[in-house]
Amino acid sequence: MRKWKWMRFSFSTPDPATGTVSLKTPVSKLRGVGPRVEDKLKRLGIERLGDMLFHLPHRYSDRTRLTPIGRIEAGTEVLIEGTIELAQVKFGRRRSLLVRLSDNTGAILLRFFHFSKSQQAGLEAGNRLRCFGSVRAGPQMLEIIHPEYQRLEGDDSPPLADTLTPIYPATEGVNQPLLRRIASAALDCVTRKPELLPDYLPAELLQRLDYPDLLQALQTVHQPPADADTAALEAGTHPAQQRLAFEELLAFHLSQRRQRHQQQQRPAPPLTRHSDLLTRFFAQLPFTPTGAQQRVIGEIETDLANAYPMLRLLQGDVGSGKTVVAAAAALLAIDSGWQVAIMAPTELLAEQHFRNLCGWLEALDCTPVLLTGRLKRADRDQALQAIETGAASVVIGTHALFQETVAFHRLGLVIIDEQHRFGVHQRLALLEKGVAEDMSPHQLIMTATPIPRTLAMSLHADLDVSIIDELPPGRQPVNTVVLAESRRDDLIERISAACREGRQVYWVCPLIEESDTFDYQAATETSELLTEQLPGVRVGLIHGRLKAGDKAAVMDAFKAGDIDLLVATTVIEVGVDVPNASLMIIENAERMGLAQLHQLRGRVGRGSRRSDCVLLYRAPLGDLARARLEVMRTSEDGFVIAERDLALRGPGELMGTRQTGLPSLRIADFGRDQQLIPLLHGAAEQLSRHNPDKIDALIARWQHASQGYSQV
Ligand code: ADP
Ligand code: MG
Repeated sequence: MRKWKWMRFSFSTPDPATGTVSLKTPVSKLRGVGPRVEDKLKRLGIERLGDMLFHLPHRYSDRTRLTPIGRIEAGTEVLIEGTIELAQVKFGRRRSLLVRLSDNTGAILLRFFHFSKSQQAGLEAGNRLRCFGSVRAGPQMLEIIHPEYQRLEGDDSPPLADTLTPIYPATEGVNQPLLRRIASAALDCVTRKPELLPDYLPAELLQRLDYPDLLQALQTVHQPPADADTAALEAGTHPAQQRLAFEELLAFHLSQRRQRHQQQQRPAPPLTRHSDLLTRFFAQLPFTPTGAQQRVIGEIETDLANAYPMLRLLQGDVGSGKTVVAAAAALLAIDSGWQVAIMAPTELLAEQHFRNLCGWLEALDCTPVLLTGRLKRADRDQALQAIETGAASVVIGTHALFQETVAFHRLGLVIIDEQHRFGVHQRLALLEKGVAEDMSPHQLIMTATPIPRTLAMSLHADLDVSIIDELPPGRQPVNTVVLAESRRDDLIERISAACREGRQVYWVCPLIEESDTFDYQAATETSELLTEQLPGVRVGLIHGRLKAGDKAAVMDAFKAGDIDLLVATTVIEVGVDVPNASLMIIENAERMGLAQLHQLRGRVGRGSRRSDCVLLYRAPLGDLARARLEVMRTSEDGFVIAERDLALRGPGELMGTRQTGLPSLRIADFGRDQQLIPLLHGAAEQLSRHNPDKIDALIARWQHASQGYSQV
């Protein structure tokens, strides 16, 4: 039998008999893991064998049966066998190898964007293949992009898998078989020596919830036995998965408690009104704060007056006006003689805050300082000096803020915008800058991506949460339409008309296959195409590959009205404020998470004119995708959207989790596992009382090497 093509890779674990392998064995010791693969594994958080135990499959694929090609549906994953009818390289906008595969029931197209000569040679007409992949509707027929495949000899049909195949979070250059083998080696270790894998959950709790022990749970999720409940595993509701999800949520909860506890060990400077600064600030604002803004500012003011550090999460929908709240908090610090640092995730956003605050604070004799990576040397030195001497009372910046060369004179308050974009380490690094006179700064953490209120309250049980649940008055609703891509021509007409009326337009290209290379290619191609199709319209392009300076130049031109249509990748999703832009087109909207769509759409509807958002989708739409787009069409309330999103979220679905404002978890799912959240507080109490020594280890187990764990 020929091996699967992707199994060519040779691999064996060090000999267990010689005792050379343990959970601490670096993965590089495994044959076949060279420095390049090692590096990529490291990015996944897998450096030692033991790391793989908690690198959990995020879903499963079912390769236990073959699907006749004629019965394939778009949006499903299939295992198929067939004969190649035709193979050709197409030189279009993107070179690709197209292979038409058929059996006696139908035909499907396999599409490869990357292929070697030898691969091409193996894919010639007449050859038989077995393939696995997810099916989508292509321009002409159903197709699978980059299927996993295996050549079959003659009429050969090798045996099928008899259990579900785990699919791990992976990255380019790290394939699934490799991950499966590392998992297998790690499981071997702990099966031989279960004492290497202590169970931190109280036995009484496991019994009450009817959960398996840790080893058993890990075995089940990594290597589902043939008799395992397949439906439950696919849905993520198997007791083995639930147990791990619970443990992960508990670790998150405990780490928050610990953080808060540690932070409160040191005193903080009480920040209160010493003059009429705040009154003057409100008096010169061009608008009156909403009731919700006033309430939240009140909550913050009460906290800041304490001699211990505030740790408050401020949630508010896109456009609800969190920046004013941040400014008010900043003024309390200034009025008390302390400095404020405001950290934003992108230079675009930092500059925008800087401009806003300069406008608001100018009349109050307070000039903010901007610190980003792209300042010129002299400006940077000047900014650093102002920060160090205390001349700068408000410092706005990006990651540049917590670099070594930055020393604050007296940092009393740290404000973090779009918290979900930062890792916890970055936030702590900034906090460390604030330790002056043995004091700890107060913290205000802002997030625009709301999660359901009840969930937020119990998840962040030990954090104070303020919510802005009201939009400023006079907002124009955004008229959202859902449109099939086949009607693109009508849309072009509409854009052309809109631009003639002086409206500005965003055209958002989707994230393709989670690769920024494709992302950038697609955006470039789209902008070329639109330039061609829309003569007279000034088209601009912005994507993640541009240098920060170039990005800002494009945004400035758009803001100034020198660009009519801005083609963008999802880089514009956070915070960007261009009130004159009133039309947004989002391509492949069916592939994006609702939270992300909501964020994107929040870029329009900021000015006085009516705004429109067009969600383009590629037919055919599955039921779930249809329901999700319907939510977007009918609601503009971020809290409602978040709730519906959780309710609709399918098992194992990863779409948009990065954008939800929730910590990125490995196995727990805030929608599916909601019922576990109310149990966390009790379990945390129980551990603190009876086994406090286990808490650090439990947190470390779930946090280890996971850069993406951006919890509050
Ligand atoms: P977000 O919460 O998304 O960060 P911003 O702070 O950027 O929102 O505010 C969005 C826009 O609304 C800004 O242009 C801001 O000046 C304006 N704004 C904020 N509060 C009010 C208010 N109470 N009345 C009118 N406009 C407001
Ligand atoms: Mg904002």
